[in-house]
Amino acid sequence: MRNVIGICCLVVLLLDSVAYAQLSTGWKSHDLSRPQPKVVTAGIKPGGPPSDAIVLFDGNDLSQWLSSNGAEPKWKVVDGAMESVPRSGYVVSKQKFGDCQVHVEFASPKNVKGTGQGRGNSGVFLMGEFEVQVLDSYENQTYADGSAGSIYGQYPPLVNASRKPGEWQTYDIVFKRPRFDDKGNLTSAARLTVFHNGVLVQDGNEALGPTNWIRHKAYENMAGKTEGPLSLQDHGNPVRYRNIWVRNLVDREKPKPILAKKPPYQLKQEEVDRLVGKYGGHRVIQSTDSLVFMFNGNTPLTLVATDSTAFKFRESAGTLQFEKDDQGKVSEIVIRLDAAGVRKAKRID
Ligand code: MG
Repeated sequence: MRNVIGICCLVVLLLDSVAYAQLSTGWKSHDLSRPQPKVVTAGIKPGGPPSDAIVLFDGNDLSQWLSSNGAEPKWKVVDGAMESVPRSGYVVSKQKFGDCQVHVEFASPKNVKGTGQGRGNSGVFLMGEFEVQVLDSYENQTYADGSAGSIYGQYPPLVNASRKPGEWQTYDIVFKRPRFDDKGNLTSAARLTVFHNGVLVQDGNEALGPTNWIRHKAYENMAGKTEGPLSLQDHGNPVRYRNIWVRNLVDREKPKPILAKKPPYQLKQEEVDRLVGKYGGHRVIQSTDSLVFMFNGNTPLTLVATDSTAFKFRESAGTLQFEKDDQGKVSEIVIRLDAAGVRKAKRID
């Protein structure tokens, strides 16, 4: 008997915590009024730019780029690729970006020269500040946090997914910019996720600060900055790039509150007693401060009364209506779920 009481108390406590759970999405599940996602047409070829991408290099010219000093870029276009000209400086995109998805293809020189950091070195800089290292890391050892796919000087890639020198490779990067408060204090660090040739090499890592050689720079120098160019590094090696595109990322809408502070109708205990029971394979039970509909007997949906027999579900879009027979006894429920239409169940206890 004591065990039974214990189990009952546990159930009540669990249901109580469910009753007050605010869904972090701000939406009930399967709400049909939730805005539909925008349609984006995917690239025709794998790796091709989707319809909402900004194409920075399509193999033809450097019209979307400048040198870092603002002059015309000195990199050259060869066989549909843009190639770093040693000692000509970085190239920076004319357009600036904050949160973004970036696709870049690159190839280190086929004729291998140099070792370590001297071999096929370049880099993709997000906001012009955070370097995803480009290096010929195929059988070429260097410090781990400076190899291909590293966030330079901070995080080595999770694995070395490098192809052979001269072969085309891809980076797909998701970048979230750093955020600052009004006083210029960092509130969230820059975050990078990187796929190298389709292989995850950075899994949402938070950058310690903007990239620098020996030690990263301080975030505070970037306070107030919300965007910057995509830039490509000239590190003295003729690294080639092609098919470069960027998608601006927009945050989801902020969650709206879905719970009313007070239920629209306050049930009396005698009204609760009339509703608690078994209905087909479902049950209606009472927790400490709410009624709970156990859908199929095992999925708790907290009920919010709109009158003595009509309820909304707190967590899922839909309603529950209790129907009475000729004698005024509750005899049936009508469940309306946006996700599943209308179902009825007779009372069986
Ligand atoms: Mg580099």
